[in-house]
Amino acid sequence: MIEISKGALAKVLSSLQKFANQKVSVEQYSTPSELAAEVLWQAQLQGDIDEKTVLDLGAGTGILGIGAALLGGKVTLIEQDEEALEIAKRNVTQAKVDVKIVKGLVEDYAEKADTIIMNPPFGTKQIHADRAFLDKAFSLAPVVWSMHKTSTHPFILSYAKEAGYSATFFPAVIQLPHSQSFHKKPVKPVEITVYRFIRP
Ligand code: SAH
Repeated sequence: MIEISKGALAKVLSSLQKFANQKVSVEQYSTPSELAAEVLWQAQLQGDIDEKTVLDLGAGTGILGIGAALLGGKVTLIEQDEEALEIAKRNVTQAKVDVKIVKGLVEDYAEKADTIIMNPPFGTKQIHADRAFLDKAFSLAPVVWSMHKTSTHPFILSYAKEAGYSATFFPAVIQLPHSQSFHKKPVKPVEITVYRFIRP
């Protein structure tokens, strides 16, 4: 049994370092700490985290996986980007959690787990990157928590259904960096949907 409140979880996650040099081309953006805490808390309530093996695919600076570890998960982070991993390692040390870190492509990872938690590329810069992550997630775990742009909702639902997964979901808003430099504000709000996919 893990004894940490949702507020305490959010506080630890908000203290973690974010991307130092955000690479928009591989769709790097940190899940906001409040949202990460909310998603992890919901996952915990469903029994998907504590004492479960948990994979964070495209872990970035590690916020989701570190949060899962704080809630009692046996966590592995998978990330391709060296700079992000350096930050993830520091964050793991700072949060005092025991987490396995794997440098590599999500596509090449093959160890199964109980639960996947991920905020994957939305596939707007790297075409179909969202599908590659979903394919991998569905091949590795019976329970998958993931976030996608709400504009892709019908596609995501039918894609999951084809893979044999049913979904529950809730909406959220995140701030994403603009891809064009002529925009006055550096970020824009984007509607996303948080999913829990399960294989019955
Ligand atoms: N999960 C983190 C980061 C989300 S950004 C968070 O919630 O804050 C998506 C991450 O996926 C980036 O760090 C990017 O480098 C990584 N990524 C993109 N394509 C990848 C791939 N094919 N294999 C591994 N990591 C990938």
